[in-house]
Amino acid sequence: MSLTKSIEFSITPIGIIRSCYGEKFGIPRQPGLVKSATATLELSPPYNTPDAFRGLKAFSHVWIIFLFHQSIREQWKATVRPPRLGGNERVGVFASRSNFRPNPIGLSVVELKEVDGTILQLGGGDFLDQTPVLDIKPYLPYADCIPTALGAFADRAPDAKNRVNFSTEAEQSVQILENETRPALRQLVCDMLAYNPRPAYQTNDPDRIYGTRIFDLELQWRQVESMIHVISMDPMQR
Ligand code: SAH
Repeated sequence: MSLTKSIEFSITPIGIIRSCYGEKFGIPRQPGLVKSATATLELSPPYNTPDAFRGLKAFSHVWIIFLFHQSIREQWKATVRPPRLGGNERVGVFASRSNFRPNPIGLSVVELKEVDGTILQLGGGDFLDQTPVLDIKPYLPYADCIPTALGAFADRAPDAKNRVNFSTEAEQSVQILENETRPALRQLVCDMLAYNPRPAYQTNDPDRIYGTRIFDLELQWRQVESMIHVISMDPMQR
């Protein structure tokens, strides 16, 4: 038996993320890009004890280690095509932050906005709604921030180059729908769509309608070059 086989073990999630992103499409490709993104982490028993969070409030940021639960595959591939390289060039899976990996584990550093008992309010996440969380660790600036680090093909944040406008209908909807349960809705839609969610292999098609889910809303837009036109934003049909 190989050494790696002998240390196989199972992991139980400690909690679940409730996120503003209801579908993978449109989620920014790293945390911290869309600062208006909100997420709540609810701990499950027996981890939902305040003792486990004693002292956490004093940290401004945390690492969230999570399961890419919608990217679990039987097979894995040694190479992937990062969107940052235009979606054509391949790099090794371990030279990428792809969600398709031998162990589908995600790692994101996010703002810790609030600790409400055993519920954490997080800002700027790149998590899909219902993401299972495996661990939480405080971000330690002296160890985790390396100003001289090299970022290879992703050395800088991608440009938020799209401009976003709203149809009259979408503008009316956002005024009504932005509330405590859907905070900063307009800002969120603008920030998210500014980072070109369209797959790299798709060419400009002004008639094509794109859609995704934000909170409990169905968002639809068209894209002409770097101009995004939000068509509608309506509560999902149940
Ligand atoms: N910071 C992350 C980046 C991963 S790639 C890391 O290195 O771990 C980011 C993409 O993961 C997002 O664009 C989103 O589409 C996807 N994603 C987020 N949560 C997911 C989940 N629970 N299952 C599958 N994919 C997810």
